Amino acid sequence: MWLFGHVGPGTAAIQKLKPQLPFGVVVVGTILPDLIDKPLYYGLRFLTGAGQEGVSFVTCTRTVGHTGLFLGAISVAYLWKKKPALLALALGVATHLTLDMFQDLVFLTQVPWDEKSAVIAASFPFFRPHFGAMPVATLREHLSAITVNPHLVWTELLGLGLFTYAAWRNRSTSRRSKSDR
Ligand SMILES: [Zn+2]
Repeated sequence: MWLFGHVGPGTAAIQKLKPQLPFGVVVVGTILPDLIDKPLYYGLRFLTGAGQEGVSFVTCTRTVGHTGLFLGAISVAYLWKKKPALLALALGVATHLTLDMFQDLVFLTQVPWDEKSAVIAASFPFFRPHFGAMPVATLREHLSAITVNPHLVWTELLGLGLFTYAAWRNRSTSRRSKSDR
C-alpha cells in the first residue's frame, strides 16, 4: 500500500468507530510509520552512500515506526495524558501496521511469512533481533513498483474512495456537532 491504500481504510474505520477524534491527526497517524521509516532509510543511505543493506539496524523501510513498541509507546502516552490526539495517532498507526501485515500476507506470497518485513518489524525485537531486508535496490525501483504490482493500483483507488467517504462523514459530523451547540 502507498498513500490512499493506508489513509482510506484507516480514516474510514476510525471515523466510524470514533467520529469525535481530530480527523487531521487520524490522517497523519495512518501514514506516520512510513513518514518516519522511508525518509530514515533513504536519508541514511543518501548521507552515508550505503547500499541496499542500509545503515546499522535501518535495513529497510519498515523499521522503528513499524514496530509494536512504537505503537505501544503512543498508546501508553494516551493512557497517561488522555489526549484525543494521541488516541487518534495510536489508532491510525494500528491501522497502518495491520494493513502492511495484510498486504505482505496476502500479496507477497513469494516471500516466506517469517521473512516478511511487516511481521519482523511489528514483533521487533522478540521474533528477530534485527529488521527485514529491502526487496528493491533504489528509490526509483521502489516507486516503480506501483506499475508492476497491480494490487497497488486498485488499493490506491479503493483507498481514495474510502478517504473521500470518511472526509465527507467527518464534515457532516462536525457540522452537526456545531449546530447542536
Ligand atoms: Zn508501512
